[in-house]
Amino acid sequence: MKVRNYGDVVDRILAALRKSDHLTCWHQASSASSSYPLFCLRWTAQQKSSPLFYVSAGIHGDEPAGVACAVRLIEMLADHDKHNPFPFNKYNWLISPCDNPYGYERDIRENATGLDLNRMFETPTQCPETAFIAESLQRKQSAHVEKLNNNIIEEKAIIELALDLHEDSDSDGFYLWERRTSQCLPIGNMIVKSVAGLCPINQDPLIENHRNENGVITLLDKVTTKGWTRGRYLAEQLNTRCLILETPTQLDWEIRIAAQLTAVQTAIKHAGSCKK
Ligand SMILES: [Zn+2]
Repeated sequence: MKVRNYGDVVDRILAALRKSDHLTCWHQASSASSSYPLFCLRWTAQQKSSPLFYVSAGIHGDEPAGVACAVRLIEMLADHDKHNPFPFNKYNWLISPCDNPYGYERDIRENATGLDLNRMFETPTQCPETAFIAESLQRKQSAHVEKLNNNIIEEKAIIELALDLHEDSDSDGFYLWERRTSQCLPIGNMIVKSVAGLCPINQDPLIENHRNENGVITLLDKVTTKGWTRGRYLAEQLNTRCLILETPTQLDWEIRIAAQLTAVQTAIKHAGSCKK
């Protein structure tokens, strides 16, 4: 049974695209393998050499606050929101706002064929949704390499930091997974601190058998216990750090969206200080 309408998400994306030339999108129309169009938005900052952040949401269809946060971010960028004191539009963005439209509409974790998409990244081409995600990331990468060959911009990491927005129905508080190399300084604790004013933090000593330190679970270097998640794909294939944010679905809707947005804001503020 459908409980949400993906068409509303699509309408808001299309409305945002009409508002600003800085916002463009890769779009995959519905096909034989997927009856939903898929979108990946790009925001190009005035200063093209600004760091690039990747935000993704909704790979699990029953975690909708991440989708709402990603769509709001797209709208804030397109509106050049002057009311928001944080200058999101000064950064470059790649935003994948709703990765599993079938699950999103039905409030279920899996896609139409019953697959947990966040375990399919060893061979992302096996599902239309993960194939589109991998293609979007690869396209971004090849665009960057072309520019490097023309010496237009100096060499730097393609994506400064990836933020994958999730939710947890078993948790009574916010927490995050921080996937990073041991050379990279942690920023998870600062993010938790910024969210703590908005909602409770999960203080369980263990979450899914991983050690939770005041809302932060660290996945250092090549941890494989979570299977082939997008975070692992980003780390192993694209050399990119990833934070997986988890809001508790039992909390108020607006608080969950605000917690996600605050976490994104704090993460990008501190992303540059990650390097030793
Ligand atoms: Zn999830």
